[in-house]
Amino acid sequence: MNQPGAVRRPLIAGNWKMNKTIAQACELIRELRACTLPAGVDVVVAPPFTALQAVAAELRGSSIGLCAQTMHENDHGAYTGEIAPPMLREIGVRYVILGHSERRAYDGETDEAVGRKTRSALRHGMTPIVAVGETASEHEEGLTLEKVTMQVRAAFAGLGAREVASCVVAYEPIWAIGSGHFEEPESADAVIAHIRRAVDGLEDARLLYGGSMKAQNAAALMAQPNIDGGLIGGASLAAATFVPIVEAAYAHA
Ligand code: PEP
Repeated sequence: MNQPGAVRRPLIAGNWKMNKTIAQACELIRELRACTLPAGVDVVVAPPFTALQAVAAELRGSSIGLCAQTMHENDHGAYTGEIAPPMLREIGVRYVILGHSERRAYDGETDEAVGRKTRSALRHGMTPIVAVGETASEHEEGLTLEKVTMQVRAAFAGLGAREVASCVVAYEPIWAIGSGHFEEPESADAVIAHIRRAVDGLEDARLLYGGSMKAQNAAALMAQPNIDGGLIGGASLAAATFVPIVEAAYAHA
């Protein structure tokens, strides 16, 4: 977890979403392990639930961190189809993505639920990667700052500055996700700078950009003062497209 006041280490997280069988997931981990990843960057992968255990075994002895794509807020109970935090911890999961726009859109994940899950992840010793961002119409109407402020305040409600500083926020304009269009680095940095000031503790937290981040734009995004890394979707699905982003994070952070 982040140490408040410490230099913010770059973090590149690959969100594999609903992609990769167990065999394919293990193959990608073997490819990543065969590459020389710069030691100064934290690299994290988020495979689908079915592959988490096999990927954990494949990662043994590696510095690559294991991340879940979501989780339930409760420790156990009658929640068919859900996965509880202790189940993730048992297999070595250290990070969890919460409030991804696809979960908010397709699974009704509310700001309040993201807050409960964030507090639960921290209780279980996992680092939440809280995703926030505006839709295309909110962007056009100039509502971006209002939207992300509301989302981060709800996500971190009731937490002290030290706990907030140990979390990660990914600013992901929804219109940029999977679209091939990314936010201009300076504009993304301005939104992220605003997020940094929105909640006590976020000034020391790692804040990422997400939304069509690729090898071609990673250097310009990483060179921004407030951008500490990236949450990567499509480009995290192959070592050839993921590793250059990690290298850019190292070179330009
Ligand atoms: C994402 O879904 O978090 C994401 C950033 O996807 P992509 O990189 O494909 O835009």
